[in-house]
Amino acid sequence: MVYLNGHFIAKNKASISVMDRGFLFGDGVYEVIPVYQGKIFRLTEHLQRLQNSLDSIQITNPYTSKKWKEILTKLNHFSSESDQSLYLQITRGADTQRKHNFDILTPTVYIEANPLIAKTKSQLEVGFSAITRKDIRWHRCDIKSTSLLANILYAQEAKQHQVEEVILSRNNEITEGATSNVFILKDNTLFTHPTGPNILSGITRDLVISSAKACKLQLQKTPFSLKDIQHADGLWISSSTREIMPITLLDGQPINQGKIHPAWSCMYNHYQQLKND
Ligand code: PLP
Repeated sequence: MVYLNGHFIAKNKASISVMDRGFLFGDGVYEVIPVYQGKIFRLTEHLQRLQNSLDSIQITNPYTSKKWKEILTKLNHFSSESDQSLYLQITRGADTQRKHNFDILTPTVYIEANPLIAKTKSQLEVGFSAITRKDIRWHRCDIKSTSLLANILYAQEAKQHQVEEVILSRNNEITEGATSNVFILKDNTLFTHPTGPNILSGITRDLVISSAKACKLQLQKTPFSLKDIQHADGLWISSSTREIMPITLLDGQPINQGKIHPAWSCMYNHYQQLKND
């Protein structure tokens, strides 16, 4: 079952116009929201980010927060899975002709729910590999846009290299991953790229930032370089579907001799607590 423009219908019955600007231009925004034990996790924060994305591209939010909650909860209840990932997308809507500029249209709203199978702590403790690449994306990465061509190409490279993630750098500064935020740990300080147009401000990133103190870590939103990563005590990526994942091999080179710092374990435990609250 999926949600499309006011209706809950079977996925194979859901269709949109070929004139939809989401189809023609990738003219839309999206959110991915986890559900744990049937409870939507950090909904307010996701809806706020959605609002920011919509405002940035001049689409009026079609629903109030109350209505979003109602729809998402209802969709969630169609599935028997207690942990799910809700994907929601809003495009500018369908026009009568293809043109780059836009008039006010009726936005298209599509939502689907998929099972969310988080990795266990022991699965994560194995450590993961990543590669680095130049950040070739545009300069409004803070908008969670459905125009994801660069990210798609990175994801394909990750697949071809059999690595978990591609870590991006712009002007010698690490920005984020192709589908995640990036943290390094050095001498009990956690560093992450400053919030701004170079990164998507992750909801999981915010949780890591606010949990730093609980794990006795300092936090600095300061740019860091590839060289800094190579000398770091830990490298982590974060996202709603991956949670907090340790990267132990970057471009084939071990980080912290391939060992996972105990601070990661503290963070992991803290995050699980938040999920269960
Ligand atoms: N950065 C990018 C480019 C992403 O695509 C994602 C998630 O999809 C994130 C960061 C992490 O965001 P969140 O923690 O809200 O899932």
